[in-house]
Amino acid sequence: MSEPECREMFLCRCGHMGHTIKVSCFPGEQDGLYLGVCVYQYQSFWQRLWAGVKYIFTGHGAEFDETILCPNDAKRLQQFINDYFRSLSGER
Ligand SMILES: [Zn+2]
Repeated sequence: MSEPECREMFLCRCGHMGHTIKVSCFPGEQDGLYLGVCVYQYQSFWQRLWAGVKYIFTGHGAEFDETILCPNDAKRLQQFINDYFRSLSGER
């Protein structure tokens, strides 16, 4: 996959780098937006191994976290999405 033409990074309001979101797109392409999230970092190898084993045998264990955007970043995300839709319709 080639590099996206548009990319924005959004840091969580709490300041935890693990909550960072990367939003990317290829303007004019119908594939959609790509949302990249950081994978949660466990404290140790054994905790990561345990989570993997638990997931393999139970199918459970998916974890969700959240990213809180400040109003300015929410507006920036809105602008990014609006620009993407404009690129789909051929507008610039
Ligand atoms: Zn956060």
